[in-house]
Amino acid sequence: MNFKCKCGTKYRAKTPEFTGDIEAVIYTDGVVEGAVTPRKIDVFICDTCKKIKSVSECEQIEEVGKTLLEPTTEEYLEILKDEKFKNLNIRIKTWQRSNDKYREIDSLDDLKVKVELLKATISQIPSITHFNQYIAKMVKKKEALSDENSIIIVEEKINELIQKREEVFGRLKEKNHLNNITSQIKEMEEIGEAEVVYTSQEKENMKILLDTLGGSSAEKILKAELYRNLGEFEKSTVVAGEITEKQYEKIKDLIKNLSERKLKKPARLNS
Ligand SMILES: [Zn+2]
Repeated sequence: MNFKCKCGTKYRAKTPEFTGDIEAVIYTDGVVEGAVTPRKIDVFICDTCKKIKSVSECEQIEEVGKTLLEPTTEEYLEILKDEKFKNLNIRIKTWQRSNDKYREIDSLDDLKVKVELLKATISQIPSITHFNQYIAKMVKKKEALSDENSIIIVEEKINELIQKREEVFGRLKEKNHLNNITSQIKEMEEIGEAEVVYTSQEKENMKILLDTLGGSSAEKILKAELYRNLGEFEKSTVVAGEITEKQYEKIKDLIKNLSERKLKKPARLNS
């Protein structure tokens, strides 16, 4: 959709292309993100006139303008000072934007899962599988032997195969990836995970949200997540426990699970 600000600056807002984006990622704080599911931007600060505008009040045009970018957390906090935009929708968007900086940071658990998946992928690469099968056969052959000399010959052959497998392994791009993740894990175990920290303004917005959100299941999910993000894990678990609607079961269980593990970061519902 193309539109222009009152000052004449032309913008292009990305709109969802279709609703069945199976690649879209859903997060515990309600953010849905995918290649064809861009986030809806309702309000923005114009690059030119610096005024706060809601997209819906702007005039739609045919001409294509520059891509409209979502306000930053700081811009959202600025927007929230304007009486006209002090509403639940903008408060939720501000909080979700605050969470963006933690969205793509993997936790230690995420990384460990990645390592396991990578190892499984590597073991299924044909050249590696071939060596594994060959080595397993030679080991079996060695076990059946009793003659010392024959055993030594087979052992040499096995070592040679292991070395060749390592050579192939070393050339795999997956090996590089695996090394990177492994060193990341090592570092995290040494220095600890990145801590979720909100500024006092961000926290204030989150607390107002907690006071404003109502008692529907959808609102309770947001409340449980807000408490969890703020590190109030017991409250998070209690609120999540109050949700009975079946459609929220998966997200409710994930939030409870993360709270029990004292994790604050927004997490992916589907991965
Ligand atoms: Zn403008």
